[in-house]
Amino acid sequence: MHYKSGIELLSICNENNMSIYDVALINECRSSSLSEHQVYEKMLTYFEIMKTSIKKGLDENEKNIKGFMIGGEAKKIKNYYENNKSVCGKTMSKAISYALSVMEVNVSMGRIVACPTAGSCGVLPAVLLTIMEKFSLDEQTVIKGLLTSSAVGIIIGKNASLSGAEGGCQAEIGSASAMAAAAVVEMLGGTPEQALHASAIALKNLMGLVCDPVAGLVEAPCAKRNAIGTSNAMIAAEMALAGIESIIPFDEVVIAMGKVGKMLPVALRETSEGGIATTPTGKKLKKQIFGVK
Ligand code: SF4
Repeated sequence: MHYKSGIELLSICNENNMSIYDVALINECRSSSLSEHQVYEKMLTYFEIMKTSIKKGLDENEKNIKGFMIGGEAKKIKNYYENNKSVCGKTMSKAISYALSVMEVNVSMGRIVACPTAGSCGVLPAVLLTIMEKFSLDEQTVIKGLLTSSAVGIIIGKNASLSGAEGGCQAEIGSASAMAAAAVVEMLGGTPEQALHASAIALKNLMGLVCDPVAGLVEAPCAKRNAIGTSNAMIAAEMALAGIESIIPFDEVVIAMGKVGKMLPVALRETSEGGIATTPTGKKLKKQIFGVK
């Protein structure tokens, strides 16, 4: 079941009448020497950690989930959509609160699943749990989504990058969003082709996003970009499930993202030497936190 690209993955799916998660599951069993049941249990453990991180950020005292710059934002969104007219609607607002929550747990050194990276750890949990709750899906369906997302992540990792230091934030939040978009399509019964269209749309929407963490900490703009990656994944999945196709095929989008990453100056690839990291406020925060310019 070897594949290096989306087109190869789709041909395996079509030739064998399989879903993307079937292929991902077979490959995971082979590479880990685990049984299907063991892989399922392992994925379930990851999903449990994701759910716990969402709950922790929303339940705990702000003090316990605070980094240097963020903390308490997840609860603010929750309070807002529960007590006001939500601009985005309850589903999207809930997803935003979940993404922020996981990032708050991350900055407080809590337990998260770095999927695909710690900086983008809020996107998949937020999307998976929101869709699970909205459509009353069972855990098996969520695990199928998670496996589907892993196949997308593998292709992006092989042909472009999943690292902000290498490809900018498009490679972290963009990839997480593309992975999550495919998961939603799978969870809601879409086809493998639709899953990759959703991934392509999500990745295109965040193409060129630079990595510019204030004070070199994975807090700002990272937390709010997780919220954007989450919303973007759901928007992309909605389009793909409605039958909208990405005009540029998934594989070409991935290659383009990788090329854009290489074109980005070093200052915009996690060095904190550009973007919002070097704004007057960004510099002031760095000085406040570390006492250096
Ligand atoms: S800005 Fe950089 S460190 Fe922050 S999430 Fe994006 S890639 Fe990660």
